[in-house]
Amino acid sequence: MGRNQIYCCICGAPILEAGQSDNERGEWLADAVLLTTAHETENGVGLDAYWPQPPGQAYALDLGPDPAVESQRHVLQLDAQYYEHNRFKILESGDVVSAFTVGGDLPTPAVTSGGSLSLAVHRLCNQLAERFINSRAKSHDTFQMTSQDEISSVKQLWEVLCHRMPGTTPLTSQYILPEPHDYYGGRYCRNVEWEPEDDPGYGELLEENPSEIPNLTESILQNLQPESSEKPTNILAENENGLQNSDRISGVIQSQDCWYDTFVSKKPFPWLWDLDTKAIQKKHESGSWDWELIVCQLSQVVIHDPSDKTLSLPLGLRNRRRIWRLLEDARLDDVASDAVAPAP
Ligand SMILES: [Zn+2]
Repeated sequence: MGRNQIYCCICGAPILEAGQSDNERGEWLADAVLLTTAHETENGVGLDAYWPQPPGQAYALDLGPDPAVESQRHVLQLDAQYYEHNRFKILESGDVVSAFTVGGDLPTPAVTSGGSLSLAVHRLCNQLAERFINSRAKSHDTFQMTSQDEISSVKQLWEVLCHRMPGTTPLTSQYILPEPHDYYGGRYCRNVEWEPEDDPGYGELLEENPSEIPNLTESILQNLQPESSEKPTNILAENENGLQNSDRISGVIQSQDCWYDTFVSKKPFPWLWDLDTKAIQKKHESGSWDWELIVCQLSQVVIHDPSDKTLSLPLGLRNRRRIWRLLEDARLDDVASDAVAPAP
C-alpha cells in the first residue's frame, strides 16, 4: 500500500522516518523542523490562526479577523520527527502535529475557519536558510516584503513559504508546496511515495547531504587548471586602455593573485562557507594556477545540475547549490502571481 509521502518545502526532497533511508548518506532526511508562527498573549504565547481566503484568491492564507500586531508575532522553529503521513512529533513537547494543513494542532482540523499552520522542512535545510539569511547585507526582521525582495529574515522566509500554501475553501492538506521552479529537479520522484529511481539523476542528488560534504575543498581544487599562457580577457582590456607591455606582464601575475584573493575570501560564494582556506593557500603556493577560471566556473548557477560538465563536483555540493539557488530565487507570491495572472 502506498504511503502519502511528504516533502520539505525548502528543498523538495522527502522527509523520511528515522531508519527509512536506504543509505547512510540519506539519514539527514529524517531530521525535521516544523515552522509556525505565534504571538505574545496575556497568558504567554498563542499560535497564530490562519484562515481561508475569499473565493478568487488561489494562494496565501489570511490571518483572520483579529490578528496579533506584527511586532508581537514571531516564527517558531520546532525540532520534530516524522510520525506518519503528514504528522510530526515535536521533540520537546511530545505533541503530534499535522503539517501543511490549517488546524493541524487540533484533533479535527477546522478547515472552514481559522487554525494554526505548520510547514515542514529538513533541519539541514532550515540551517542552510539561516546561513543564507546571515549572508545578506541587511536583515529585515519583519514579515513585510515586496515581490522584488530576497529573503532577509526567518520571518520573510515564513512569509514566502506560507504564501505558496493554497488558500481557498475547502482547505486541503498538501504534501508539497508548489515552488515556481519545481525545486530545480526531481519532479518525477515526488509521487505518493518517494521513488528516486523514477528520476535517476535527481533522485540521487536530492538524497545527498547538502551540509556535511567529505573532502569539499579537495573536490573543488581538483578542477583547478594550470595558468594558461593565453592572456585573460581582462588583461586585454587593460592593454586597450594604454598599458605598456611590461605592465601587461606584471598585470597577468597580479590578476591571477587577485582572482586567488577573490576565491580564498569566499565572498562570491557564501554557500561555500566551509572551504578550507589553509588547503587553498597550500595549493596556491604549489604552482601557477588559473584562479580566474575556477571563480568563473563556480559562479555558474547551473553547476547544481547533476548533468553539468562545467566542473567535477560531489553531488552533495550540487545539492547545496540547488537549495541555495531556491533561496536566492524565492519571492513573495511567486507562485500566486504565476497562478492567478492570465497568460500573456
Ligand atoms: Zn529540505
